[in-house]
Amino acid sequence: MAFDTFVVVDWSAGKRAPKRPSKDAIWIGVVQAGVERDPVYCRSRQDAEAWLSAFIAAEAKAQRRVMIGFDFPFGYPRGFVERVTGSADPLVFWDWLEARITDTEAGENNRFEIAEQLNACFDGIGPFWGKPSKTLWPDVPYRKDGIVYAACAERRQADLAAKAASSCFQLAFPPTVGSQVLMGLPVLSRLRRLHDVAVWPFEDHATAQTVFVEIWPGLIETAVKEVSDDPIRDRVQVRLLSRALAGLSHDALADMLADVGDNASEEAWILGAGHKDALVAAARAMPTLTPPPLRNDCFALPAGVDWTPVDDALALLKERLGPVVRVETMPLMQAAGWVLAEDLVAKRANPPHPNTAVDGYGFAGAAVGDGPQVLPLVDGRAAAGRPFGGVVPEGHAIRVLTGADLPTGVDTVVLDEDVRVGGGQVAFHGPLKPGANTRKAGEDVQAGDIALTQGRVLTPADLALAAAVGHGEVLVHQRLRVAVLSTGDEIVEPGAEVGAGQIFDANRPMLSSLCAGFGFEAVDMGCAPDDRDALRGFLDNAAAQADVILTSGGASAGDEDHMSALLRESGAMLEWRIALKPGRPLALGMWSGTPVFGLPGNPVAALVCTLIFARPAMGALAGAGWHAPQGFDVPAAFEKNKKPGRREYLRARIRGGQAEVFKSEGSGRISGLSWAEGLVELPDGAVHVKNGDPVRYIPFSSFDL
Ligand code: AMP
Ligand code: MG
Repeated sequence: MAFDTFVVVDWSAGKRAPKRPSKDAIWIGVVQAGVERDPVYCRSRQDAEAWLSAFIAAEAKAQRRVMIGFDFPFGYPRGFVERVTGSADPLVFWDWLEARITDTEAGENNRFEIAEQLNACFDGIGPFWGKPSKTLWPDVPYRKDGIVYAACAERRQADLAAKAASSCFQLAFPPTVGSQVLMGLPVLSRLRRLHDVAVWPFEDHATAQTVFVEIWPGLIETAVKEVSDDPIRDRVQVRLLSRALAGLSHDALADMLADVGDNASEEAWILGAGHKDALVAAARAMPTLTPPPLRNDCFALPAGVDWTPVDDALALLKERLGPVVRVETMPLMQAAGWVLAEDLVAKRANPPHPNTAVDGYGFAGAAVGDGPQVLPLVDGRAAAGRPFGGVVPEGHAIRVLTGADLPTGVDTVVLDEDVRVGGGQVAFHGPLKPGANTRKAGEDVQAGDIALTQGRVLTPADLALAAAVGHGEVLVHQRLRVAVLSTGDEIVEPGAEVGAGQIFDANRPMLSSLCAGFGFEAVDMGCAPDDRDALRGFLDNAAAQADVILTSGGASAGDEDHMSALLRESGAMLEWRIALKPGRPLALGMWSGTPVFGLPGNPVAALVCTLIFARPAMGALAGAGWHAPQGFDVPAAFEKNKKPGRREYLRARIRGGQAEVFKSEGSGRISGLSWAEGLVELPDGAVHVKNGDPVRYIPFSSFDL
């Protein structure tokens, strides 16, 4: 089974790293469902563990399969683990370490004590060596001199195959791989118990939701060296290696997973050892690659079905389509209408501090009882942006203005309208509920809450929220580019000369502006003649310029229906015979990796199929998720006898609280489209609609029209 998401973790054995992204911290590279994310910076191992745990859970929920690479050995040279635990199973040693290693947020840990314990299992000095002090931890030698690697080798088979100079027994002086293993394996041991994880190559990785693999950035050093625009090497490494893994073909990755040395079941293996050139090539190639998560068979229909019900067709599309657009950061001021590409976590609470909701006088609520109250006023006041620096003693009050942070000693405010002030005192009637007229810190949003979820099309109110919780820019999906193409020998440009048998292109202006209304970028591809070679050129051109192709005409199986013929020829076409009126078969397929929606040529059918099928599907491709239009029941102002078998959409509008439908159902009647303000949806089965019966009405505004 293939992987959807690739993560590469550059581990660290060091202390808590600075707030500002720096090297020697933990860096995590992510290519999620084909979309490259900005590498994640973790200041501590605890941060990294929490991030990974949340990420693994979220990807599992989204049913994405994840491969996570860690850059430290998963095992020790043969013989080591058995000597320590009595079992040759490396995962037993993971748990052995997990039970013993302690680690704090600041990075204080007991790894040298544990190394002393491990050394005690072996004769002579070692195998672990290297420490920051010449005198502490007497059972860990300062230097390697004199250690004899007899009971187990100094390096694993994998280290030799990858030509890695480091050893998992070296605890200090770079490369400190030995320390990374001691501090890393306990984390992996916990993550593996918490989630559905298989550890390669020890466990069967074919079906697990998440697979841990050992990687080594040294394998792609050639590609890393070529990057000159990022001073943080660790960040470059995780970015390139996650790209490389994501960019490998399914077969190439399967080969690497299968190609392990004889001792791998005990010593583990470095993914890609012996495949350096392929990894380097993939690391170099990815930057220009746009995410290709759609598979060529994504439009396949279940075999044997003749007419597919609308809901089944929608469910299939919903299940198979995902974002195909890259992400970028965007200043908040320009982000309205863009699709949010990650959950936006509040960096700051709203309100950030407790403050007063009114102009008045603040005091400690607990000290105020029933009846008349007179409190001496302290000097000074608190106003918005000008907090009071001092402390208000219990039994005293202070002048406060709306929006001001509550001074220390104040938790309750009495309104200006309810007080008398004079002689340095304020008088009012109790009781007052403690906390009255104040806003609690975080009562709206707490720091760390998810303020906005991924996939939202950002509204003006969303921008206000994002700003309030501390974001000046957001990660958004680039706009989905939709190539709009008409087909047919009879079609000419609107307003141009028309010859015999010709008609104007009504679909292109309609479909282009629909796409723009949906928030996409319409790319006008003109009109193609009914000629297979010419049409091929148009499709190539469209695939090169857009993320999805919307065509109209030629979608059936007739002689001149070249769109369906071409898509069939390319091996990736499916004629969707959907039980829908109006709308003849849809031709859904892939052209050079780009999804094609082949709509019927008829403008009425083209519009209905766009609204019902293409719009939600393109929303999913754009990263905004699947959105069904919202309809509601209204009484019918018409009569209709509908046969079973097909769902039917009527051009409709509401007048006097009732749904009226266009006088003719003829699917060439464009004037009826323009007349309509929405659609009436009649169910798949037979219905006899009488005047006043409820029918489902979907206003065009529900389709962003
Ligand atoms: P087709 O799907 O190519 O068989 O076309 C069905 C009907 O829609 C035919 O009457 C076409 O002339 C008409 N048609 C196709 N494309 C367009 C278009 N772009 N504008 C207006 N009518 C069209
Ligand atoms: Mg045609």
